[in-house]
Amino acid sequence: MRVTLLGTGTSYGVPVIACDCAVCTSDDPRNMRTRSSAFVEVDGRSFLIDTTPELRLQALRHRVRRVDAVLYTHEHADHVNGLDDLKAFNAVLGGPLPCFGNRRTETSLRQRFDFAFAGTPFIGAIPHITFDVVDAPFELLGVPVIPIELQHGRITATGWRIGGAAYLTDTNGIPPRSMALLQGLDLLVLDGLRPRPHPTHFSIPEAVDVARALRPRQTLLTHLTHDVDYRAISADLPPSVGLAYDGQIIEVADS
Ligand SMILES: [Zn+2]
Ligand SMILES: [Zn+2]
Ligand SMILES: [Zn+2]
Repeated sequence: MRVTLLGTGTSYGVPVIACDCAVCTSDDPRNMRTRSSAFVEVDGRSFLIDTTPELRLQALRHRVRRVDAVLYTHEHADHVNGLDDLKAFNAVLGGPLPCFGNRRTETSLRQRFDFAFAGTPFIGAIPHITFDVVDAPFELLGVPVIPIELQHGRITATGWRIGGAAYLTDTNGIPPRSMALLQGLDLLVLDGLRPRPHPTHFSIPEAVDVARALRPRQTLLTHLTHDVDYRAISADLPPSVGLAYDGQIIEVADS
């Protein structure tokens, strides 16, 4: 099973528009962050997690040629606003693209992207998706998938576990019943916004505490702001914890 991190940035992306800080003007490519998203390939199936505003650029850059299903974490703009680009994958599939997430995300997408649910016969002009609300483990195209409930400020976001990998972006709290679903991980991708605390995201020290509690083989922190210089912050992290970067590919044990 292979996980590709298509984007690892916070909602502004890095560089931030009109910012001249050291990270935004850095020439380290690991400080260039598109909005957070992941692509998971397992048993011949391909799952996309979230459709960021940079989905088209991410798909071209990392050669994403086929998506069998989309797993949504939540409805915030940085995670959904590239939904229109899914039409390219409709063309590859030759039919509607199945999407999954929680009830709140479904309600929001149906309002904001009503055209994608229209089932129009004009194939190609607009995307065509279906949406299933899931709140318990299920099998997706033969692959066991576990939605993980996460606190994200005042709303509930969904983390996703597939085999030995879990992707938990946009969270500042993991309920005990969700922690129980995250044992024995090979890879944990976890929100670690910035060094300072934030009301809706784990800070880097908080994320490290979660990694210490769950003990995955490897933890990568994502949804990073321009307060995070890749080289400087990486040097202070425990050995099994690292910063994620755009285009990072991780081969993961299946369970
Ligand atoms: Zn976000
Ligand atoms: Zn900056
Ligand atoms: Zn969010």
